Amino acid sequence: MVETLVLKVNPKQPELEKIRVAAQVVRKGGLVVFPTETVYGLGANALDDAAVLKIFKAKERPADNPLIVHIADGDDLHILAEHVPSEAKKLITQFWPGPLTLLLRKSELVPDATTAGLATVAIRMPSHPIARALIAEADVPIAAPSANLAGRPSPTTAKHVLDDLSGRINIVIDGGAVGFGVESTVLDLTTEVPTVLRPGPVTVEELGQVLGEVKVHPVAKAEAPAEVVVAQAPGMKYKHYAPRAEVILVEGALDGMVSKIQELTVKHKSAGKKVGIMATVETARKYRADVVKVVGVRRKPKTIAKNLFKAFREFDEMGVDIVLAEGLKPKSIGLAIMNRLRKAAGYNIVRVRGSTKRLRSNAKRGFYKS
Ligand code: AMP
Ligand code: MG
Repeated sequence: MVETLVLKVNPKQPELEKIRVAAQVVRKGGLVVFPTETVYGLGANALDDAAVLKIFKAKERPADNPLIVHIADGDDLHILAEHVPSEAKKLITQFWPGPLTLLLRKSELVPDATTAGLATVAIRMPSHPIARALIAEADVPIAAPSANLAGRPSPTTAKHVLDDLSGRINIVIDGGAVGFGVESTVLDLTTEVPTVLRPGPVTVEELGQVLGEVKVHPVAKAEAPAEVVVAQAPGMKYKHYAPRAEVILVEGALDGMVSKIQELTVKHKSAGKKVGIMATVETARKYRADVVKVVGVRRKPKTIAKNLFKAFREFDEMGVDIVLAEGLKPKSIGLAIMNRLRKAAGYNIVRVRGSTKRLRSNAKRGFYKS
């Protein structure tokens, strides 16, 4: 156990004296949690393998799941990567600093502990003022996965971090709630066609506009459990983001989803389970359950991304056994949300059809003929 110091820092104008305290801890090989525009990150000096190993220990993260290296200065990219292709340059101009992680072949400077022994390194330049100030003051690249225990939902507040990691980290910088609420987009630039390994706030559509062609890895779509055969992105094989409760995801047309969720609520309640529904502004008043939580507005999926992980944690705090969640269209930021939801559900997905489709197919089968 170590004593965890909480440093409250202004997210818009970080106080330099506080940032310096944290930066010194990073330089000395310690663990500092800091806010980014995606989620809170658990940081250590990316070039110090002993420091990086502490991240794995604190999170109880499997050693074969590589970390993302965060930089504050674009020049560091050329030190960490063996080669920077022209696509990377275009993407950086457009999306850095911001929630886009690029996978490139690593240079010799990056220790194996950081990349879990892979020949590639994942790099991003965050835009959050605290993250940028910390990296710049530490003057080393900072390896930082999400600051949660392995398998738990990523933290979007300092409280979530302390719930998971208090006594395991030296400092947590509390800069308030994060922006996007889901982790960065991970794009592999070592494949012939750039491939999205993890959907995130920088959308596939936006990447396509810059790159022309871009693929989405089947695991990133998370439509069905997929075997990760090649050790291309080992993190993809783990169950992630999950609350302790069992999550059932209902996908399909909205009216069909709502009635299926109502039906499942009744079923599980009569089996003695405490049922929570992850509802939206548009649907919440249609549900009766032990807990009905409004996670955001369906028409504005960014609001859902922001509250998703917090909602998971709150359902756990309320001792819910089953969480029933509504699906979204898997496009734009919706793809990132659906990727997290499908994983959290362990692919326990119920697919439904909407009333129009049902009516049409019933009509075809002659149900309405006298
Ligand atoms: P986290 O920051 O906790 O969300 O985890 C980092 C994510 O980036 C995980 O899904 C990793 O598998 C992925 N990642 C990091 N480095 C690499 C790499 N070299 N190759 C493939 N995926 C990576
Ligand atoms: Mg994570």
